[in-house]
Amino acid sequence: MESIPRLQKLVDTLTALFKEREVKDEQQKLAIAGDALKTLVATDDWLPEEFAQPHPQYYQQYLLYRNPQQRFSIVSFVWGPGQTTPIHDHKVWALIGMLRGAERGERFELVSSGQPMKCISTDMLFQGEIESLSPSSGDIHRVSNAYANRVSISIHVYGGDIGQIKRHVYDASNGQAREFISGYANVNAAAS
Ligand code: FE
Repeated sequence: MESIPRLQKLVDTLTALFKEREVKDEQQKLAIAGDALKTLVATDDWLPEEFAQPHPQYYQQYLLYRNPQQRFSIVSFVWGPGQTTPIHDHKVWALIGMLRGAERGERFELVSSGQPMKCISTDMLFQGEIESLSPSSGDIHRVSNAYANRVSISIHVYGGDIGQIKRHVYDASNGQAREFISGYANVNAAAS
């Protein structure tokens, strides 16, 4: 990553912020990390082509950097036209910065068991903007490419090695949760 100075700057900031296992003052640290991510996505001239490739069917998650102590990871999300995630959670804090295009984020809440999930907000994220999520304030959402005719790319930072974390996807009709591990498009699961 030394070869990508803009990304290395974010890595350095995050390494200093999250050097302890215990994350104290999460909101304060996320605000500083968010500013560093905002700086990174302000300029769209650094993401190598190999991490910007859409797949005709599935949105792609390319691992850009993984902290050796697994305190955080940085991922490029590449959305083909009209692609969307299932409703999911993260189990760790997350920051999203829009590098190219735009995405739509819908927040969901579980109602009582067996009931349809409730969509509590829908927000657009445009190029250069960031947003944050934390399990402490509810982190269930669905994200979609806002465009039906072009690729969008966002840079995500997570408070752990997100590709290996056991988390959940949800059925909107009844709130039923199913465990999943997302992996990465560019990392062999057996070797990671
Ligand atoms: Fe997410």
